[in-house]
Amino acid sequence: MNNKTNYEYLLSDLSSLKGVGTKTKNLLKKKNINNLFDLLWKLPKSYTDRSLSSKIKELKIGEIQTVTIIPQKYNFPRIRKLPNRVLCSDETGEIDCIFFNSYEGYIKKILPLGKEITVSGKIGHFKNKYQITNPKYVSEDSSLIKQTHNKYSLTEGISEKIYNKILNQIINNLPVFNEWHSKSILSKFKNISWNSSIKELHKPENIGNYKSNFYQRLAFDEIFSTFLVNSEIRKKIRKIKKKNKVINFNKQNSIIDKLNFSLTDDQQKSLNEINKDLSSPNKMFRLLQGDVGSGKTIVSLLAAINTINSGFQVAFMAPTEILARQHFTLAKKLFPKNINIALISGKSEYKVKKEILQRLENNKIDIIFGTHAIFQKKVIFKKLGLIIIDEQHKFGVNQRKKLSDKGGSNCDVLLMTATPIPRTLTMTIYGDMDISIIREKPKNRKPIKTYSKLEVKIEDVLKFIKKEINLGNQIFWVCPLIEESKKLDHSSAVKKYEYLESKFPNQVCLLHGKTEVDEKNEILNNFLNNKFKILVSTTIIEVGIDFPNANTIIIENANKFGLSQLHQLRGRVGRGDKDSTCILMFKSNLSENAKKRIKILKDTNDGFLISEEDMKLRGFGDILGFKQSGVKNFKLADPIHNSDLFILAEKEMRRIENSNEDIGKFKPLIKLYDRADIINDIA
Ligand code: ADP
Ligand code: MG
Repeated sequence: MNNKTNYEYLLSDLSSLKGVGTKTKNLLKKKNINNLFDLLWKLPKSYTDRSLSSKIKELKIGEIQTVTIIPQKYNFPRIRKLPNRVLCSDETGEIDCIFFNSYEGYIKKILPLGKEITVSGKIGHFKNKYQITNPKYVSEDSSLIKQTHNKYSLTEGISEKIYNKILNQIINNLPVFNEWHSKSILSKFKNISWNSSIKELHKPENIGNYKSNFYQRLAFDEIFSTFLVNSEIRKKIRKIKKKNKVINFNKQNSIIDKLNFSLTDDQQKSLNEINKDLSSPNKMFRLLQGDVGSGKTIVSLLAAINTINSGFQVAFMAPTEILARQHFTLAKKLFPKNINIALISGKSEYKVKKEILQRLENNKIDIIFGTHAIFQKKVIFKKLGLIIIDEQHKFGVNQRKKLSDKGGSNCDVLLMTATPIPRTLTMTIYGDMDISIIREKPKNRKPIKTYSKLEVKIEDVLKFIKKEINLGNQIFWVCPLIEESKKLDHSSAVKKYEYLESKFPNQVCLLHGKTEVDEKNEILNNFLNNKFKILVSTTIIEVGIDFPNANTIIIENANKFGLSQLHQLRGRVGRGDKDSTCILMFKSNLSENAKKRIKILKDTNDGFLISEEDMKLRGFGDILGFKQSGVKNFKLADPIHNSDLFILAEKEMRRIENSNEDIGKFKPLIKLYDRADIINDIA
């Protein structure tokens, strides 16, 4: 029935378990428990010890006790409301088993007269006599009762008894695997095997024993499995052969010379890494990660020009039209006249679009900017050599893999994200890509002065922005999120707009979730061109857009946002060399914890550091909505408490990568823990 060396047993259907019928199976499915392996992570919350039995004389009233008795006499009253009773005894005394709402037939079956029966339950006392009411644990086989019985957080319709029964079955039939870890890794967990670890994990006395070797080993297993799968994807992409680009450094440097700044060391380092990939005969699949305003655009444009000068086309995708246009304008300014640069916009006329498509197909366009529209089927490139995608932290592993398949064999891929994340998560979330990081901000950056202010002091804030407007600066005003309801957000933004418009007539514009795309672009353009001084909005403005003239941002109800999100919002200002200010507004006095959070923001402008702190305070699932973005949820591992295991797993993964070790031995691990579709062709 059970192949003990095979992981497939654990991946088998729930109905292979005794005691699991269609009903239980469906209830578990609703909880995303689809096979035996999934059930292994259903852990006991507490337990009841029924292992010790007493004689009736020694029973303790009010406690859960186990006792072996002989039923002597039934007392089934004819009056409905009265309970059925069974008088029982042992050699030391008498006890009544009391049943409300139970059929006589059932009672006779579980408590046959004259037989030794073991029962367990809470002991009561009534009219000078011991009693047990509705005992759930009753059996002729005392060993079935005299155990510890685990308590689980129950799924509706599934009893503790069923959970105990099915989990015991799995634990008793666990396959014995050949160890997949190296000796040195294993020794870190006192050499405990996967099999024993699972057994320990389910022992009631081990509940909550997070520091133990078995818990740590199992957490490591799941982290490592993720890293290994990511590494396999990366390896596979790297194996794809392409025609390498030949970088013309003279031409690249003549563009750098045009800039009115010099590249930071991190920008230069990232550019070198990208250039190396472009010139290699293997496909590039790289992430350029850098905080808001760290200067990723110029790095990507240099990669683009190098690709173009090598005879290929480039597709540059931005999340919004306005951002696509901004990049397009910058390329127009920086690239030599002979480079053909195009922008495909939703607004373009059909004729214009058609012409662009034709020119793309005939290799008459070197680089095209646009939103996701540039990846439609009808867009055909003659010689696409590089895809650049800006600000897309919301892509999951599978989406990215599809993307890397796009563009054909000669096409490199560069993704950019302005979302710094804690180191422990980088491998988890972006492990399928090579990564370049820009940590250091351009030197001319002044820190954004960050203040907190109570809402009742709004007059002070108005005074402050009046001063800034008089200096020729522009203001973002971000409205509170109210109970996550779009409708309410919208009305609060409208109200604030009306209020500010009354204070600053004809100087305020408004953007909210309901603004149509065309109108939104127009409003943003007007603001960009300084036609309005204050832009009131919900959180919808994307982080990438450069508003060089805006230097102040007001964020209302700031405690509704996480630190990383506040940091991102704040990053809309302070991109130029102006003094810039961020004012966080609060409805009421800050709690100690909130003060701590705000202090971090005031003290640093380092997005990586802020993301670490944010994760410590709020847990990793919440930072910037990564939970929704297809990032896997770990069963045991916790990026905060197990950060050492994440680092160890990365080290081990690199060791295996560099030693070209055969990963066949990890097959059960990967099959059990990870996405089967990705690893189908692993040994
Ligand atoms: P992000 O990384 O958020 O995409 P951008 O590429 O939009 O940042 O750059 C933000 C601003 O910083 C732009 O105005 C850009 O011209 C400027 N910038 C980029 N690199 C440097 C640098 N090395 N020194 C000074 N300013 C820079
Ligand atoms: Mg950007």
